[in-house]
Amino acid sequence: MENKLKLLSPTERIDIRSDPWGDGHFGAPRGDHTHKGIDLRVYHREALVAPLICRVKRIAWPYRYQGKYMGIVLRSANEARNAEIKIFYMVPDETKLWTKSHQVLLQGELIGMAQNISEKYDYRMLSHIHLELRIDGKLVDPEPYLIDRG
Ligand SMILES: [Zn+2]
Repeated sequence: MENKLKLLSPTERIDIRSDPWGDGHFGAPRGDHTHKGIDLRVYHREALVAPLICRVKRIAWPYRYQGKYMGIVLRSANEARNAEIKIFYMVPDETKLWTKSHQVLLQGELIGMAQNISEKYDYRMLSHIHLELRIDGKLVDPEPYLIDRG
């Protein structure tokens, strides 16, 4: 039987953004390139959870010259899976980063809090996190792997 990768949605609901600034699906047009992940809508300061059993690999910075927005890179702690997830526009939970950085985080465990990315653009951009999935180093559409938290 197929043992498919299942990613718990880090957000409370699976709702892909679509607004005047862009379509949040994987592969959607973004000027001279295409969207490398999916954008999941969030509530203000929404608590986000680990999509899979993982370790924190590193902090990520979506904008080189803007320190306010942050992100996280998670690596699967299941040795049978070569999966990596990058999430942007969230403040990682400090305790997961500095005091227990090599600790395994369980699927569904708190990883941080969503930031308000629409502040960087304008009110027409719906608040969201950006999520990328790499399997065996290759970018893939995360949507078919996502399962609802409900
Ligand atoms: Zn995005």
